[in-house]
Amino acid sequence: MRYYDKLVFELSKSGRTGYSLADNGCKGYEMNLPAALERAEAPMLPEVSEVDVVRHYTNLSQMNFGVDTGFYPLGSCTMKYNPKINEEIASMPAFLGLHPLQAEYTVPGVKEIYEGIDRSLAAITGMEHFTFKPCAGAHGELTGLMIIREYHISRGDLKRTRIIVPDSAHGTNPASAAVCGLEIVEVKSNADGLVDVNDLKPLLDDTIAGIMMTNPNTLGLFEKDIREIADLVHAAGGLLYYDGANMNPLIGTVRPGDMGFDVMHLNLHKSFSTPHGGGGPGSGPVGVCHKLVPFLGVNVSGFHGNFGVILRAYAYILMLGRQNVRLCGKLAALGANYIKESLKDVYKLPIESVCKHEFVFDGLVNDGARDGKEGATTLDVAKRLLDYGYHAPTIYFPLLFHQAIMIEPTETESKETLDEFIEVMRRIAAEAAENPDILHGAPHNTPIGRPDETAAARNPILKIQDECAC
Ligand SMILES: *Cc1c(COP(=O)(O)O)cnc(C)c1O
Repeated sequence: MRYYDKLVFELSKSGRTGYSLADNGCKGYEMNLPAALERAEAPMLPEVSEVDVVRHYTNLSQMNFGVDTGFYPLGSCTMKYNPKINEEIASMPAFLGLHPLQAEYTVPGVKEIYEGIDRSLAAITGMEHFTFKPCAGAHGELTGLMIIREYHISRGDLKRTRIIVPDSAHGTNPASAAVCGLEIVEVKSNADGLVDVNDLKPLLDDTIAGIMMTNPNTLGLFEKDIREIADLVHAAGGLLYYDGANMNPLIGTVRPGDMGFDVMHLNLHKSFSTPHGGGGPGSGPVGVCHKLVPFLGVNVSGFHGNFGVILRAYAYILMLGRQNVRLCGKLAALGANYIKESLKDVYKLPIESVCKHEFVFDGLVNDGARDGKEGATTLDVAKRLLDYGYHAPTIYFPLLFHQAIMIEPTETESKETLDEFIEVMRRIAAEAAENPDILHGAPHNTPIGRPDETAAARNPILKIQDECAC
């Protein structure tokens, strides 16, 4: 029996308990609750043995794909393995029991951790100081944009209400700008997948608050004209915002501060060791250059951010040290280039270039379409990967290509894992060329096949619908 075929309530048998205790005569203590607060009936709880509960939830947990169960090449997400020692440190009772309203003199050690990670991130990024309040990358973007807005307002420069965002940007960039009340101006990519400096120049006037850029950008490509872009934007009175969610491959090698950026966020839950996904706790600290330090106090959330994530990041940085932090970035780029070069004869590579941590294919070279038979799409490839035990890469993003497949292996995977993945991707390409119907029907081996993702997102069913027989 697969325990997830049933609800835990359906496993219930009246009178069954999880454990038995010897009667030692101890009565415990009775509480005298006001009658109004007492239940009229006992709560409906499943009555199951301990082993049933353990199997049920363990099986359920295995329906989910995680980086602890397999390779997870989800582009733009940096799904790397995170050392378990950081989990252990974050679970220490002295940290778990902290309260955000505790008086400062009771927590000098915590203060030291915040100061220490501030110094480390400043050294890594070339920024002056960070705020740790933002709880996600997008939250950091909003914080950074508010800082940019406050800066212009403080100078009486009230016309600057527009922000430039490249067409390759992560979707959160324009969304955060809109939430901040800024008008979005798009700048196009050139044939090399980089921001087109000639398209940028005419956009720069005295209504521009700044530009948001990701480097390496969402195609995994280093924006090599960044110094020229920084000079142009600064000359026009704007500021440069760095979306540092893609910082993983650059850590220890290049610093946003040296590229000319004024304000940035990092995704600690991507680059610095916190398991993420499914909306779990995140941290998007925002760093600023010297002249923006006075604006670092913009109020975006109470307290000091997700301390557990910050703590993991600090432990990770200290554990690796300067040399190994740097090695991580280099290995991430090496792994991505290795996969790209090993597959580009069977998957279309729209931009031929050395990539950083990730790259984008544009569908299959031979999708098997013939005699009115539909060829295999990127969605089909992604679904077929599930049959082979892999999490699918990011698909249909970025929007620059119709059949985008975005692969990011990260530095934590061995060459053997990468080789197996390459072999499976080649096998899928061969299946598509021979008989795309195998792919149209995939996945064949998972508990559910192809749910209607839009309906599932719009009308999630989160609790039992029918009365169950318990
Ligand atoms: C993940 C990501 C973000 C958003 O981060 P969240 O923590 O998911 O809000 C922004 N930009 C880029 C490039 C990203 O990869």
